[in-house]
Amino acid sequence: MSKRKPPPPDPEPLAPLIDAHTHLAACGGRDAEAVAQILDHAGAVGVGGVVTVADDMVDARWAIAAADWDSRVWAATALHPTHADDLTDETADELAAMARHPRVVAVGETGLDWYWLERSDDCASKVQQEHSFRWHIALAKEVGKPLMIHNRDAGRDLLDVLADEGAPETVIMHCFSEDETIARECVDRGYALSFSGTVSFTNAAALQAAARVVPPELLLVETDAPFLTPHPHRGAPNQPYCLPYTVRSLAQTRCDDPADLARQVTANAERLYGIALPSA
Ligand SMILES: [Zn+2]
Ligand SMILES: [Zn+2]
Repeated sequence: MSKRKPPPPDPEPLAPLIDAHTHLAACGGRDAEAVAQILDHAGAVGVGGVVTVADDMVDARWAIAAADWDSRVWAATALHPTHADDLTDETADELAAMARHPRVVAVGETGLDWYWLERSDDCASKVQQEHSFRWHIALAKEVGKPLMIHNRDAGRDLLDVLADEGAPETVIMHCFSEDETIARECVDRGYALSFSGTVSFTNAAALQAAARVVPPELLLVETDAPFLTPHPHRGAPNQPYCLPYTVRSLAQTRCDDPADLARQVTANAERLYGIALPSA
């Protein structure tokens, strides 16, 4: 049995930052107080706001509650591709209503996941995933909010479905994990690319090459916490306060000044999600 690693120490503060994609419930945000603690901790190192992202119906209702509890939290709601088999007439109606909630700033995470398709009996089928993805694309266009994409081992198919369906005005490729070729195609289409701790991993040369071709105005940063803790704390529990580790690593990869990069990605998050960090 592997020993659970302790949480990473606080990074040097880097402000302003917005965690463009995290999962507060899975980070231990059981109630309003626990959520406030996670945000206080993040705020102490410069991470002034987060977008908490839902995986399923229960999580989606919870994400909206969390965004209502705390002005530093916004929500994104959808069925994760692995849960695409939960899409029924009933859940579709509820998801459509949730997407219109004023503190829901994106439809996501939706997309395609061919990794779990091969490895989990609980994973929605290929047909269910594509059906749900197309339905969420249409919903994002209908409500005029960004589409937040989850992609695992499905980059080519995903871009083809998006082109076929017609992408909404704002598309965010969360936890971008593809190579330079796919990155260029996303950039050409005007999609935003959000980088997580994986860009800091020591074996991430291809992903780092991809990060270098993204123009500053299309860059976002995220934790995807509680997973994907940045180097050198890979394997330890992740939380929004760990975001500065990833931003410094990304700045080094792109030869950017970390403070400039922080200002840029935060301006991007505010513009793309249509939000403003609460003044401290
Ligand atoms: Zn995801
Ligand atoms: Zn996620």
